[in-house]
Amino acid sequence: MAETILIVEDELDLAATLEYRLGKDGYDTVTAATGAEALAALQAEPRPDLVLLDLMLPDMSGMDICRQIRREEATANLPVIMVTARAEEIDRVVGFEVGADDYVCKPFSVRELVLRVKAQLRRGRSGGPNRTPSVAFGRLKVNSEAHRAWVDGEERPLTALEFKLLETFLARRGRVQSRERLLDDVWGITADVTTRTVDTHVKRLRQKLGPAGQYIETLRGVGYRFCDEPPARDTPADAGAP
Ligand code: CA
Repeated sequence: MAETILIVEDELDLAATLEYRLGKDGYDTVTAATGAEALAALQAEPRPDLVLLDLMLPDMSGMDICRQIRREEATANLPVIMVTARAEEIDRVVGFEVGADDYVCKPFSVRELVLRVKAQLRRGRSGGPNRTPSVAFGRLKVNSEAHRAWVDGEERPLTALEFKLLETFLARRGRVQSRERLLDDVWGITADVTTRTVDTHVKRLRQKLGPAGQYIETLRGVGYRFCDEPPARDTPADAGAP
C-alpha cells in the first residue's frame, strides 16, 4: 500500500506542486491548509506516514502542531519535516527541540524535499520491526514504542531527536560513536546541521538524563561512547537513594 504524506501548507500553489511531485513518486497525499485541518487529518484514515509541516499557518503555529504530534502516543514517532520561509537558525533549533526530524527552508528544491521524505520514511521503516519495546540499563529505562525514558523510575521527557540519539547510543553501547556517524544515523545525511549540533544535543540529553547522563562518555577529538555496563555502584537497587 502506498505511504500517505500529510502536506500542511496554506500556500495552495506550493501544496499543489508537492501533491503532484509526491504523487508521481508513488505516494498518496492529503493536504491541510490550516492547523485545524492538519489536526483533523492526523486522526483520520488513512493515517499519514509522514508530515510536511509549514510553520506559518493562518490559525496556529507549526511548532504547536509538532508538539501535539509528539505528545500523542499514536503519532509520537511520526516523521515530521518542517517547511518554512524563515531561515533563521533559531527556528531550526526550536524545530528540532519540539521534535521535528528534518527541516527545509523556502525556497527549496522539490527534488531535494522528495529525497528527504524518502530518507525519513526509510529510517522509520528500519526502526520499526527491530525495536525492542523496553530496555533497562542501570538507572535508565527506555521504551522505544512509547517513546519514553525514565531515570530511577522518574520519567524524563525527551524530544524525538534526543530520544533517537539515546536509542542509538544504547544500541551501540561500548562502541565509539563519531559525531559524523551520529549525524548520519540520528539526523540523516541530508539534514542541514553541523557536528556542533551533535554536541549541543548530547549535552542537553545528558542534562535531561541527570544521574544517568554519566553513561555517555565524551572522547575528546573522537566523539562519544555509551558505557558498556552501568557502573557497579549504579544498579537499580540504588534507585531512590539520595
Ligand atoms: Ca505558510
